[in-house]
Amino acid sequence: MKSKHLDIAGQRFGRLLVMARDGKSPNGNARWLCACDCGASTVRASASLRSGVALSCGCLRKERVANANVERLYRHGETVGGKDTHTYRVWRAMVARCTNPKNDAFQWYGGRGISVCDRWMVFDHFLADMGAAPDGMSIDRTNNNGDYEPNNCRWATKLEQANNTRANVFLEWRGETHTMAQWCRKLGLRVGTVHKRLKMGWSVDRALGVSPSIYRDGARRG
Ligand SMILES: [Zn+2]
Repeated sequence: MKSKHLDIAGQRFGRLLVMARDGKSPNGNARWLCACDCGASTVRASASLRSGVALSCGCLRKERVANANVERLYRHGETVGGKDTHTYRVWRAMVARCTNPKNDAFQWYGGRGISVCDRWMVFDHFLADMGAAPDGMSIDRTNNNGDYEPNNCRWATKLEQANNTRANVFLEWRGETHTMAQWCRKLGLRVGTVHKRLKMGWSVDRALGVSPSIYRDGARRG
């Protein structure tokens, strides 16, 4: 029998900071009192902490469930003929790119600190403030570094939006951060080219580092 338990006091697992030993679980696993970032405290088995199963007092899961429920709740009301309305799809995509790290665009939004205001996490509120999206228009932030909130948003055509957002996206490369437009001026690249590269999944390093002629040769696949 191993009698010596690993001392994990002071270690952090997700939102949990391990404070002190708190007896054993029925199967003999050491239990630890943890302080959660949300202010609550909880007792967790050493194994759950070290395996990454326990990352919070339970608040993390509650938040995820709440976010999922917001989507589920309001999905129904904005479906016409079995299809989500354009406005609803805009809203869902906005929430996803700001809150879901697995979203393709997260790095340009949530990952950059852009968030959806609390009020707009509920689709009905968003609809009430913005009205339905006119055909062919999507949501645009006037200040590209600001959040999605009533004072910073308008409906805009793709072209208007491209002019406002594409060129103003911040890219960090070789230790410097500039907007895409600034990088393009510096490097002699077209904003459209860099944008397309990033959309295709190129890394920032490749998107900015590969010269247009190489790109043209490499892209000639038909
Ligand atoms: Zn918590």
